[in-house]
Amino acid sequence: MSENPKFDGRRALLKKAAGLSAAIAAAGMVATQSAKAAGMAKSAVQYQDTPKDGHRCDGCALYIPGASATAKGTCKAVAGSIDPAGWCTLWSPKS
Ligand code: SF4
Repeated sequence: MSENPKFDGRRALLKKAAGLSAAIAAAGMVATQSAKAAGMAKSAVQYQDTPKDGHRCDGCALYIPGASATAKGTCKAVAGSIDPAGWCTLWSPKS
């Protein structure tokens, strides 16, 4: 502790601010990771269980197939089970 009470007050305030910043950054990282793990909501990408203009999830680069060709799979970008015949606005062809 210094002999200057104003200096001690500022030092304590700076420590609190640094701690608060670290906590906010950590919370932001957790939120970002949760969003990635969960994927986007189907409603946000206009997902439908049917093809659109001949485009289907099983022809999309983001599709992860299920146990069989007709079983529902998952998606790298969209949350929940995904119909192989489905479609959403993120559709992009397999290369
Ligand atoms: S990005 Fe859309 S079109 Fe592609 S697999 Fe996922 S849900 Fe289907």
